[in-house]
Amino acid sequence: MYKQVAPKILDQIKRSDHILLISHEKPDGDTLGSSLALAHYLEKAKKNHKHFCPDLPPVYFNYLPKIEKILTDRNLINLNEHDLVITLDCGDLKRTLITEHLEKNQRKIPLINIDHHQSNNHFGYYNLVIPQASSTSEIVYNFFTFCNIAIDKYMATSLLTGILTDTMNFTNAATNHECLKIASNLIAKGAKINQIISQISQNKNLSALKLWGKILGRLEFNPRHKAAYAIITKEDLKDGQISLEDAREGLANFLSNIQDVDFILVLTEEDDNILKGSLRTTKDGIDVSKIAESLGGGGHKKAAGFKIKGKLAKNEKGWYIE
Ligand code: 5GP
Ligand code: MN
Repeated sequence: MYKQVAPKILDQIKRSDHILLISHEKPDGDTLGSSLALAHYLEKAKKNHKHFCPDLPPVYFNYLPKIEKILTDRNLINLNEHDLVITLDCGDLKRTLITEHLEKNQRKIPLINIDHHQSNNHFGYYNLVIPQASSTSEIVYNFFTFCNIAIDKYMATSLLTGILTDTMNFTNAATNHECLKIASNLIAKGAKINQIISQISQNKNLSALKLWGKILGRLEFNPRHKAAYAIITKEDLKDGQISLEDAREGLANFLSNIQDVDFILVLTEEDDNILKGSLRTTKDGIDVSKIAESLGGGGHKKAAGFKIKGKLAKNEKGWYIE
């Protein structure tokens, strides 16, 4: 795959001079780490570029080099200015939130899709999509290595952040020999693994933990699906002490520690009558991306998500979607 696609991508980058990098909505460490490492390379190669992400990155990623350059205001992006678009970690073009424009302009502006989601439908002109990879950051590492692009300590920090995020600090099923080998190389290039883990995982404040307590207190078990459900309502976040992302972040991963369930679901009420679902499993035979796909979302076998229309409501039997 790298042998066929990587030289074409490098060639396309070399022939372009107004490149747009895109990270997905509700950004995580992998979409940010992979795109910031690429942004760093573009800067060193003296290529004009902009970096767009539809949502503001969580503040605990502020240690990532050049994160302050990411534009989150859609009005600051004019596709006509660009001659190449690269999406990173976007399993679905919808997650860029500028879908229509990208689709309409594909003939004029080539789109490169770098991703590791199994559910990715190869929406790009060039697709470097490798579902076996632990993370998009691993793919970008291999792309750099294949193209003999030197990785400095800033790029190494960004890429290791992506690998750590997507492997849940080397604990989930995405962890394998390959990503550990790459992580080791990134540490040799200057990434500080303990500092990154401390920034991305050991970052909970008191308000967030109290809210987790409230959410965990109403955890429900559904015996038919052998699943545990947690919900976060808009009401929970009303006092503005913490953001929805801060509340949700890590909760789904934490809940995957529960024994004896096939999968867990965290449902959060977002704006505009939208519910966001996060699914996790640690069971060998269970593929939660199938559940997510049946609801219009996607993801990986062990971690997937979706969005549906609706609001959470409660009656004497418990919570339901109205
Ligand atoms: P999370 O639950 O942390 O938001 O996402 C888990 C995984 O599912 C991530 O790899 C994420 O990219 C993917 N994912 C989450 N929400 C969606 C969605 O609405 N659509 C698609 N295609 N993938 C999603
Ligand atoms: Mn990823």
